[in-house]
Amino acid sequence: MKKNKLFLVIMLVFAGISLFAQYHRQESELYFPDIKGLKTLKCDFHIHTVFSDGQVWPEYRVLEAIHDGLDVIAITDHLEYRPHKEDIQGDYNRSYEIAKKAGNEYGITVIHGAEITRDMPPGHLNALFITDANKLILDSVEDVVAEANNQGAFVYWNHPCWKAQQPDTVVWFDIHTRLYEKGYIQGIEVVNFSQYCPEAFKWAMDKDLTMLGGSDVHSTTEMSKFEKHRPVTLVFAKENDENAIRKALDKKLTLLFFNETLYGDKELLYEMLDNSLTITKRFDKEENKMFFDITNNSSCPVIMLADPGLPRRTVPKVLTIGAKSNIHFHVDLSKGKFKSINFKIENYIYNVDQQLDFQLEL
Ligand SMILES: [Zn+2]
Ligand SMILES: [Zn+2]
Repeated sequence: MKKNKLFLVIMLVFAGISLFAQYHRQESELYFPDIKGLKTLKCDFHIHTVFSDGQVWPEYRVLEAIHDGLDVIAITDHLEYRPHKEDIQGDYNRSYEIAKKAGNEYGITVIHGAEITRDMPPGHLNALFITDANKLILDSVEDVVAEANNQGAFVYWNHPCWKAQQPDTVVWFDIHTRLYEKGYIQGIEVVNFSQYCPEAFKWAMDKDLTMLGGSDVHSTTEMSKFEKHRPVTLVFAKENDENAIRKALDKKLTLLFFNETLYGDKELLYEMLDNSLTITKRFDKEENKMFFDITNNSSCPVIMLADPGLPRRTVPKVLTIGAKSNIHFHVDLSKGKFKSINFKIENYIYNVDQQLDFQLEL
């Protein structure tokens, strides 16, 4: 009897622990499968706090990241714009230090960053993996970018499509070429806040730059008017640590999750789609139909558009598999001798505006 009671107590303690452990990551958890033997890390590398023109304390950014299901954040306060500086003490590293401490406590990786904030050109640039933001307070923007690189930073051009800086055009300026040719710019922000920038996607491909997507959140992610959800950069890294994340960024192993759409490299999209879907099928001889059940395990819906050249009523024209959902449908084999059915995935985008092809084997 005593033994049983002890067992019950132990069970309750364990139940309590596991409930507690689950507490932080309930409901809103984002899920994307691992691919290529690498870990899929959900990251936001563009975040502000009260130490620049943000409205929240750095520790809150870590709690918010947990709530939003992220693994990694970077604090990128403006170097040149600090409207709260009369009230907020601390040097240019302070917001990172506070967030880093909270990150260590709660299990969120926090990257040391800063936003170099200049008029166009060159506009705004994020420097990640810096070691001392205080040394980035220099007059010439070219000196700042050089110093960031000197510190081993990964530097990328933010929001080239932002209308406040380029109202009518989206231009790559001479200064971008100069910085790029020195190897000082390694990436470009293709998604920022509520905007997708096709020009940035094109430049990323032409110039072999890493694609990034960031929330650029100033208030809270709950209050921000994002398209459907917070923009996220998926990084495919060996481990969830700074070195592995940096290496993955250098290797351009990213996809962007924005407005329930994935953007990026075709091969990475294929891997993501392949690992997200579980497909089962059953042939019914009498009806001459193949019945499918497809489960989408990821947080990005999969919108399948059937080949418009198929005979009518072979298969539904549009099949939408919601995030973490499944669908049933059938292919009518009396309509023709198919080995497979071709689809376009409407919301998996490569080469700026191309929808990923997908073959459903029968
Ligand atoms: Zn900016
Ligand atoms: Zn910003």
